[in-house]
Amino acid sequence: MPWCDDCAKFWNPNSLPPDGTCPICGQLIGDPVDTSVPWHFWLLLVATVVYLGWRLAQGLGWLVSEGYPLLAVGVGTATVILAGSGVVWLWRGRNRRAEHRGAAE
Ligand SMILES: [Zn+2]
Repeated sequence: MPWCDDCAKFWNPNSLPPDGTCPICGQLIGDPVDTSVPWHFWLLLVATVVYLGWRLAQGLGWLVSEGYPLLAVGVGTATVILAGSGVVWLWRGRNRRAEHRGAAE
Protein backbone atom coordinates (compact mmCIF):
# COMPACT_ATOMS: atom_id res chain seq x y z
CA MET A 1 0.00 0.00 0.00
CA PRO A 2 1.77 3.22 -1.15
CA TRP A 3 2.17 5.79 1.60
CA CYS A 4 3.03 9.47 1.02
CA ASP A 5 4.98 11.06 3.89
CA ASP A 6 4.39 14.65 2.73
CA CYS A 7 0.61 14.24 2.41
CA ALA A 8 0.31 11.69 5.27
CA LYS A 9 -2.01 9.61 3.16
CA PHE A 10 -2.35 5.99 2.02
CA TRP A 11 -3.08 5.46 -1.66
CA ASN A 12 -4.73 2.51 -3.36
CA PRO A 13 -2.22 1.28 -6.00
CA ASN A 14 -5.00 1.50 -8.62
CA SER A 15 -5.57 5.20 -7.84
CA LEU A 16 -1.92 6.14 -8.45
CA PRO A 17 -0.78 7.42 -11.85
CA PRO A 18 1.19 4.81 -13.89
CA ASP A 19 4.49 6.51 -13.00
CA GLY A 20 3.96 5.71 -9.29
CA THR A 21 3.91 9.32 -8.07
CA CYS A 22 1.58 10.83 -5.48
CA PRO A 23 -1.43 12.47 -7.22
CA ILE A 24 -1.23 15.46 -4.83
CA CYS A 25 2.46 16.31 -4.37
CA GLY A 26 4.09 14.29 -7.17
CA GLN A 27 6.58 12.46 -4.91
CA LEU A 28 7.52 8.94 -6.05
CA ILE A 29 5.73 6.57 -3.63
CA GLY A 30 4.98 3.44 -5.68
CA ASP A 31 6.52 1.23 -8.34
CA PRO A 32 6.04 2.57 -11.87
CA VAL A 33 3.72 0.30 -13.85
CA ASP A 34 4.68 -0.91 -17.32
CA THR A 35 1.76 0.34 -19.44
CA SER A 36 3.39 -0.25 -22.83
CA VAL A 37 1.37 -2.21 -25.37
CA PRO A 38 2.84 -5.62 -26.37
CA TRP A 39 4.16 -5.96 -29.92
CA HIS A 40 1.56 -8.62 -30.87
CA PHE A 41 -1.23 -6.10 -30.21
CA TRP A 42 0.13 -3.92 -33.04
CA LEU A 43 0.53 -7.01 -35.26
CA LEU A 44 -3.12 -7.90 -34.61
CA LEU A 45 -4.17 -4.28 -35.26
CA VAL A 46 -2.31 -4.15 -38.58
CA ALA A 47 -3.72 -7.56 -39.62
CA THR A 48 -7.24 -6.38 -38.72
CA VAL A 49 -6.86 -3.13 -40.70
CA VAL A 50 -5.50 -5.03 -43.74
CA TYR A 51 -8.30 -7.62 -43.54
CA LEU A 52 -11.10 -5.05 -43.11
CA GLY A 53 -9.59 -2.89 -45.87
CA TRP A 54 -9.61 -5.91 -48.19
CA ARG A 55 -13.23 -6.73 -47.26
CA LEU A 56 -14.19 -3.08 -47.86
CA ALA A 57 -12.55 -3.18 -51.30
CA GLN A 58 -14.42 -6.42 -52.06
CA GLY A 59 -17.70 -4.87 -50.92
CA LEU A 60 -17.17 -1.71 -52.98
CA GLY A 61 -16.28 -3.84 -56.02
CA TRP A 62 -19.45 -5.85 -55.47
CA LEU A 63 -21.55 -2.64 -55.30
CA VAL A 64 -20.02 -1.43 -58.59
CA SER A 65 -20.60 -4.81 -60.27
CA GLU A 66 -24.26 -4.75 -59.11
CA GLY A 67 -24.74 -1.31 -60.72
CA TYR A 68 -24.42 1.01 -57.69
CA PRO A 69 -21.21 2.95 -58.38
CA LEU A 70 -22.43 6.12 -56.60
CA LEU A 71 -23.31 4.12 -53.49
CA ALA A 72 -19.82 2.59 -53.61
CA VAL A 73 -18.29 6.09 -53.79
CA GLY A 74 -20.46 7.24 -50.86
CA VAL A 75 -19.64 4.23 -48.68
CA GLY A 76 -15.94 4.49 -49.57
CA THR A 77 -15.85 8.22 -48.78
CA ALA A 78 -17.72 7.75 -45.49
CA THR A 79 -15.37 4.94 -44.48
CA VAL A 80 -12.26 7.03 -45.26
CA ILE A 81 -13.69 9.99 -43.27
CA LEU A 82 -14.60 7.76 -40.29
CA ALA A 83 -11.27 5.91 -40.29
CA GLY A 84 -9.35 9.18 -40.68
CA SER A 85 -11.29 10.76 -37.81
CA GLY A 86 -10.50 7.73 -35.65
CA VAL A 87 -6.77 7.97 -36.44
CA VAL A 88 -6.76 11.73 -35.67
CA TRP A 89 -8.67 11.11 -32.42
CA LEU A 90 -6.20 8.41 -31.32
CA TRP A 91 -3.21 10.56 -32.31
CA ARG A 92 -4.51 13.60 -30.38
CA GLY A 93 -5.25 11.46 -27.31
CA ARG A 94 -1.72 10.06 -27.46
CA ASN A 95 -0.29 13.61 -27.62
CA ARG A 96 -2.52 14.75 -24.73
CA ARG A 97 -1.28 11.85 -22.57
CA ALA A 98 2.33 12.67 -23.50
CA GLU A 99 1.78 16.36 -22.54
CA HIS A 100 0.18 15.26 -19.25
CA ARG A 101 3.21 13.09 -18.45
CA GLY A 102 5.53 15.97 -19.36
CA ALA A 103 3.66 18.38 -17.05
CA ALA A 104 3.72 15.91 -14.14
CA GLU A 105 7.53 15.61 -14.25
ZN1 LIG B 1 1.86 13.31 -1.60
